Amino acid sequence: MLFIGVAQNNINIEEMHISMGLQTYSAPVKNKAVTGEALSVAGVEYKTGIGVHSQSSFKIKVNGGSQFTAKVGINDSNINYDLDSITSIPLTDGKRMFYNITDTEKQFIGVEGKDGKVDKGSVIFKLLNNGEEIYNSGIMKAGDPAKEIDVKIKRGTLEMIVDDAGDGKSGDHAVWIHPNINYFEIPPIMVAYDYIGETPVQSKEINTNLKKLLAALPAIKTPLKQPDYDWLIDNEKAKAEVYRSDNGKDIIISNGLVARVFRLFPNLATVDYVNQMTGESLLRSVSNEGTLIIDGKEYAIGGLKGQPEFAYTLLEWIDDMTIDPNSFLIEDFEVKEVSDRLEWKRVRWASNPDMPSGKELIFTLSKDDIVVKVHYVLYDGIPTLSKWIEVINEGDLMVQLNEFKLEQLAMVEGESLVDVPKHFEKPNIHIETDYAFGAMQQKTSDKTTFWEPDPRYTSQTNYPMQLPVMLEVRPPLGPNVAIAKGDTLTTFRVWETPFDSFDKERKGLFVRKMYRTISPWTTENPIFLHLTSTDPAKIKTAVDQCAEVGYEMIILSFGSGLNMEKESPEYYAEFKEHVDYAKSKGIELGGYSLLSSRWISDEVDVINPETGKRGGMIFGSSPCLCSDWGYDYFRKIKTFFNETGMSVFENDGSYPGNVCASTTHTYHNGLEDSQWKQYAQIQGLYKWMRSEGIYMNVPDFYINSGTNKTGIGYREVNWSLPRERQLVLGRQNIYDGLWKTIPSMSWTFVPLTEYHGGGAAATLEPLNDHLVDYESHMMQNYGAGVQACYRGPRLYDTPKTKAVVAHVINWYKKYRDILNSDVIHLKRPSGKDWDGIMHANPQLKEKGLAMLFNPLSKEIVREIKLPLYYTGLTKTAKVREKEGKLKSYQLNRDYEITVKVTIPANSYTWLVIE
Ligand SMILES: [Zn+2]
Repeated sequence: MLFIGVAQNNINIEEMHISMGLQTYSAPVKNKAVTGEALSVAGVEYKTGIGVHSQSSFKIKVNGGSQFTAKVGINDSNINYDLDSITSIPLTDGKRMFYNITDTEKQFIGVEGKDGKVDKGSVIFKLLNNGEEIYNSGIMKAGDPAKEIDVKIKRGTLEMIVDDAGDGKSGDHAVWIHPNINYFEIPPIMVAYDYIGETPVQSKEINTNLKKLLAALPAIKTPLKQPDYDWLIDNEKAKAEVYRSDNGKDIIISNGLVARVFRLFPNLATVDYVNQMTGESLLRSVSNEGTLIIDGKEYAIGGLKGQPEFAYTLLEWIDDMTIDPNSFLIEDFEVKEVSDRLEWKRVRWASNPDMPSGKELIFTLSKDDIVVKVHYVLYDGIPTLSKWIEVINEGDLMVQLNEFKLEQLAMVEGESLVDVPKHFEKPNIHIETDYAFGAMQQKTSDKTTFWEPDPRYTSQTNYPMQLPVMLEVRPPLGPNVAIAKGDTLTTFRVWETPFDSFDKERKGLFVRKMYRTISPWTTENPIFLHLTSTDPAKIKTAVDQCAEVGYEMIILSFGSGLNMEKESPEYYAEFKEHVDYAKSKGIELGGYSLLSSRWISDEVDVINPETGKRGGMIFGSSPCLCSDWGYDYFRKIKTFFNETGMSVFENDGSYPGNVCASTTHTYHNGLEDSQWKQYAQIQGLYKWMRSEGIYMNVPDFYINSGTNKTGIGYREVNWSLPRERQLVLGRQNIYDGLWKTIPSMSWTFVPLTEYHGGGAAATLEPLNDHLVDYESHMMQNYGAGVQACYRGPRLYDTPKTKAVVAHVINWYKKYRDILNSDVIHLKRPSGKDWDGIMHANPQLKEKGLAMLFNPLSKEIVREIKLPLYYTGLTKTAKVREKEGKLKSYQLNRDYEITVKVTIPANSYTWLVIE
């Protein structure tokens, strides 16, 4: 191997783990002074750096570092210490610490000096390289211009120190501006100082209690058994339970498919994570239960120290491991049945009407006045483990939760490479949270899964030690929210699903069964029309037509003129009348509202942290959901639903994840809490609607926050293409869109009237003239179990059209259960030959239903191989074409049969498998 061509790199030290620094008062702050003020020295402002307070030290492992540069000085300050909101807390040395405390935020602003006030401050900056002083700034006072540092450094350790200059520490609000290290190949990292002081111990009382609780649990033998069944065919035996291990030290939560093993002594730690389906361990080394940064200081939630090797774990090593001094300690645990994570009011058909069952394991830990509850849920029937954390402030003073990590797991690498590839293969596990935004699909809306290097792992890692092997689950920003005395902050939830295969269909089925279980409202699947008018006569006609042919829902779509933000008793009354009329015919009525991607005003829109102005954000600009306007929007929407009784909500331009640097918006403090608090707003609305039984179409992936449907992934422009092209492209959308989602979770589109363009050739109206295409659209959508936005003024225009629509809907309802079952991909639409999908469900009488399409202009006869493994059939399958006679087939050793079919030109056929 040669290193030629490997470039020099720079790393900004403020991007490192600065909460590991030591500091007498408060904690180091990124890109601000320790007082929360903007970076500024002698009147010159800066954007990046670290604010500290003497005495302060950072320790860096230099690795490939060679040059250190920075500017240093004392930050300019403009704080009025006489304000009413300033609170002081006495310290043990008789001095007082000053805080600015509002209802929602706590900010450290200084330490008392000579005459009861905060001094001007003076400090000395030093750099020690392997203990040797390589830089000394001399005494620097407030108001002195910044000094520049540019020094060579050697391998080993570098310490960045700020001393007080012999006149006390008050006012020593020092700043490292643009601190940066130039390095080659292996980046420097910040490390913790060795802990000096007493290591906490587990008290006798807690130890005795934990042993007693453990002894009361049922026992399980290790090594854990592999299942003798495939849970995708039959999951009856996969029941979650909490056990004690045979060594008397560990607690194990397992459902026979996946297990997590926790040590309780001398502190809580995850010591194994087992994929029982494959029998393999997912974990390299003992891991903590996450981390918290509280008032700028970092704490581990449990965890054990002293692992000698990070590629694997010998169980006897764990007995010698010790408590991490900076960690929360376990006090208690309890086991209970899982409870519903949100309220789901069932008011319509769903293929899965049940919330999940399983076991919940709750660990209670504490440090000083903060209590942490770590919740685990393991579900019955699926290999999915869920986790979330509560942080409870039992002290007298508000605390600020700056950041948290819900997981920090030392996972086994997805691939072991010596060098650095363009893309690493990640471990074979699906990670998902309900803190997701900014995209239509799960993969792109995931903002909380991070695969990081593990600096402790030096044996089997790659050369620059950059193997992505630490699974971190955390918000991308913040939350930076205050927790008042007696209050609790609850994190979002993560769901972790290890796979037992690399097969695309099988992995997809794991994820699809997960959604059916954890977010079962996604299995509601009403038949709906997208009405483009609010003309009372047209609404009435549409309701009558829907009732005649078996439709179930009407959405007054964009362009219909509906305005849910309009606050008027007459307007409410008008729509209530429509709703009541529709209800009398068995039809649900709802409508469309746009939230983001609108420019409201300078005062309301999110502020770009780069410019300090609106604009340049996702969608250009969006209203801040934590402005007064934002709160008003949510109030208006709720009022509209309460007043009209509507039961469908289509929310376009949902919260895309925009941050907001405004410090004047009423319901957030600044940039760091802006995403967390805006997300809480949007999620709060969706959860409320779920509890009210309101059906929700939201293009963005808010599925785990309570919404029902998201777009299947169609491209808007396609609906302006000629009709016959729309059909093949539509089937491609369905085929590609249903790998990781279930049919009822997705919607596609059918332009009854012209959509964005394309004229008559792209339009189905007049419907009677294009009946073949209209029927083909319906059959390929309903045949996939996928609803579409049938967008237009009516469902039918003639008795002939009406008969076609009614016929398709009757057929769909007859096969509703199997058509709502998961899809096995047979052959992707290529335009060159037949294409098709097959629904499979071992629990039904109809165990399979295949939809086969012919895009060619001549009839074709084909021998089609049907993979029947996921139908649960093992020997014989009975197959009929349409409503024809059943014919028996013997399955081959791969659970396949071959069926000869004739598919008419530009048409379709379907097979039922029993
Ligand atoms: Zn804002």
